[in-house]
Amino acid sequence: MYISVDIGGTNTRIALSDDGQNISRKEHYKTPQNYHEALALLTTKLHSLLPDGLPHTVVIAVPGVLLDRQKIYKTPHLPDWEGENIKTDLESQLHTSILLENDADLGGLAESRIGAGREYDIVAYLTLSTGIGGSRITQGQIDPTQSGFEPGHHIIKPNGPFWPYCGQHGCFESLASGTAFEHTYHIKPELCEDPLIWEDHAKITSQGLANLIYFWSPRIVVLGGSLTKAGDKFINPLIRLTQEQITMFPMPEIVVSTLGGDNVLLGGLLIQQ
Ligand SMILES: [Zn+2]
Repeated sequence: MYISVDIGGTNTRIALSDDGQNISRKEHYKTPQNYHEALALLTTKLHSLLPDGLPHTVVIAVPGVLLDRQKIYKTPHLPDWEGENIKTDLESQLHTSILLENDADLGGLAESRIGAGREYDIVAYLTLSTGIGGSRITQGQIDPTQSGFEPGHHIIKPNGPFWPYCGQHGCFESLASGTAFEHTYHIKPELCEDPLIWEDHAKITSQGLANLIYFWSPRIVVLGGSLTKAGDKFINPLIRLTQEQITMFPMPEIVVSTLGGDNVLLGGLLIQQ
């Protein structure tokens, strides 16, 4: 039995798998903001799902920056969790080994191994959702880094809006995330059908995407997250406007994830293979 847990700022999701490839059962519940409460609830849930005992490793995806895959350094949507040694705490509660990873890293890993990036050696994954995250995967492995990847927090407009989640002005997430979309256009992205709004949103998104292509030089960019559900009215102008900025490179492929919202959980299974 394999287990993969995806701790999100809103929901925590648990996947069980018999073969380590396919999800056989999924559970979800609201993530408690209080760290100790969240740990106790996760322990209870895992023990009730697997009363005969946990596997020797449980993979946990966290929405933030990790230190040495042990401690949470920064997690803007779960501030009470910052500085906590989640690996040690969970290992002592669950009596099994915990592998912590950043959520976008696991999403990208799944995209590169079994998703749209599987034929490519250098895959960039970018998730456009409430926030923005991303990862770079080469030869089917997460690139080694000191602190992970935070493409959502590179600055696009130095005089742009203040973004309380990172404390900066004008970062990519402050301009192109779903949260930013709602601030700018006063409508939730999932309700917006206006092609002019989507063209405008594609323009600002293309600036961050073009930067990512220049920094990471991928062969393919896989886009995920709730904003991609807008479909062609967003994705077509996004690709066109990005292409206009990529004058120094051949244009990599840009595609929307085929794995959808399960890619983080699937990445948590695949990393155990
Ligand atoms: Zn930021």
